[in-house]
Amino acid sequence: MSEHGATTALTTWWAGERLRLTALYPLRCDRLIVELDAALARDDIAATDERGVLAEMLGLRARAQAICGQTETAIRELHALLDSGDGRFGGADRAPLLAALANCLESLGQYADALDLLHEAHALYASSADLRGVASTRLSMGVMHSRCGDHAIGYGHYREALAGFERLGEWAGVVRTLNNMGLNERNLDRLEESLATFDRALRIAEEQALPTVAWTLSGNRARTLLAMRRLDAAERAFAQHARDTQDGTWTQTGLDARFGLLEVAHARGERRSIVPPLQQLVVELKAARHLDMEVRARRLLAECLEDGEGDVATVLDAYKALRECERAWFDQRAGSRLRASTLMAELDAARREVEREHQLRDELARAHAALTIESAERGARAEALYRQAHEDALTGLPNRRDLAERLCAERRRGERFAQPLSIAMVDIDHFKAINDRHGHAAGDQVLVEVARRLQQALRSGDLVARFGGEEFVALLPDATHEQACALGERLRRAVAAAPVPIGRGACAVTVSVGVMTCAGDDTNDVVLARADARLYAAKTAGRNRVIGESGVPVGANAHDRVQA
Ligand code: GH3
Ligand code: MG
Ligand code: MG
Repeated sequence: MSEHGATTALTTWWAGERLRLTALYPLRCDRLIVELDAALARDDIAATDERGVLAEMLGLRARAQAICGQTETAIRELHALLDSGDGRFGGADRAPLLAALANCLESLGQYADALDLLHEAHALYASSADLRGVASTRLSMGVMHSRCGDHAIGYGHYREALAGFERLGEWAGVVRTLNNMGLNERNLDRLEESLATFDRALRIAEEQALPTVAWTLSGNRARTLLAMRRLDAAERAFAQHARDTQDGTWTQTGLDARFGLLEVAHARGERRSIVPPLQQLVVELKAARHLDMEVRARRLLAECLEDGEGDVATVLDAYKALRECERAWFDQRAGSRLRASTLMAELDAARREVEREHQLRDELARAHAALTIESAERGARAEALYRQAHEDALTGLPNRRDLAERLCAERRRGERFAQPLSIAMVDIDHFKAINDRHGHAAGDQVLVEVARRLQQALRSGDLVARFGGEEFVALLPDATHEQACALGERLRRAVAAAPVPIGRGACAVTVSVGVMTCAGDDTNDVVLARADARLYAAKTAGRNRVIGESGVPVGANAHDRVQA
């Protein structure tokens, strides 16, 4: 959530709710999860497009899961949210999830990976001017460095976090940061500063009514007093701490307070008197599975037995039990680190698998697209080749080869259905003279225009082809000789009807036509030769006329021959 972003009802609600819920963290995580689940199930939240709010809730839930010992489940769920292919959490909305993932890895001892994630989250928060996010990732980075023993680097991050939380008036953040600073100062042996820091934090926690945080603080403050060897004060602090936490909300805190009291007694030089309560504490720590504290308590117990009057066998047993406990603690830490790295490797492999699947799907889609294009290209090429083979390039009419194929087909059909088939052979008159007078290009224009006029003059089932040069053949299925002669005449008139425009002028064009009707067993050659003979007759009869089997011109120009 950006500080500058629009403050919607949901954002406002969450700002208040977050304070209440983080007060449960980390002491009442089971209840925190229940409350978060109830909130996440709300219709307005489930459907919100304020992904940042949703991501924060899911991040807080994952942190709580980790504290409840469900770290691996939390990691898996966070991975699923971060990797969701639907881009549900993109950009700055990823930051709370990344920070929560870092927190889970930290609890499994994977500090380096956790730090990488925190840097990423920090950059995202900074890019969206989310000052709260920036401060809280600073705090987590400090914790991570402290865990690695880099207390000085950690301290730098804490100072940044503190300044950020103070500016925002985020008191829970301020107190959490001060708590870590106090621990850090103690580790750096700056005990006075550590005490002052805890005092300051406790004051704020009381003012802001953050009791659960106050418990943690008072235990840590007592331990600083112990380190300062202010034993009376330490004793009072541990005793108060024990009373504060005796409702059993967090057993670890109560046990820690009791252990602190025994440590104070030990610092006062007591040995024998603290052996029985230490033995009792060790049993309880074992039952509560607080291995790290159990190691510390067993060490103190073994020392007390050794310094006191314990017999040799008891002392040896105490040290043996200490070694075993240390080994178990080491195994636990190594085990969780191993589990974490196995889990990370597994999730990484799963992510790579998904990526590979996406990649394969993309490749398949690309191959498919290429194939579609190729087959379309091949189809277009095949069509082009067919056209080249069957079409006349200048006029677009079927060419001589196409005519031959169609003529064969039509002859067979005519024979089969006992239908007549005629052809008209058309030749432009004195075309050479047109070329000579107007140029070859004009001649081409004339050819194109004559082709168009012939085609337009024909019936729909007829076909006209360019037979060669300035010669055309019209194929006239189901036309008797008489009908074919009439059609020939129609063609002649269509051409002669108006001069053909060429360049800036126009030229009169006429054609001569020879009409022929097929007999049963004529071949293409015979049919075409006869038609050509009649065309020749029309030429010699004076051109611009149609001659059929009678040898007499038909139509309007019939008298020409009489005159010729
Ligand atoms: P006729 O009336 O006896 O048919 O005389 P013609 O001049 O039309 O006949 P001829 O066979 O003497 O000349 C045909 C001319 O057609 C010769 C040739 O250069 C020309 N020709 C053939 N094909 C083309 C073409 O594709 N474009 C052009 N512009 N001229 C062509
Ligand atoms: Mg000619
Ligand atoms: Mg000719």
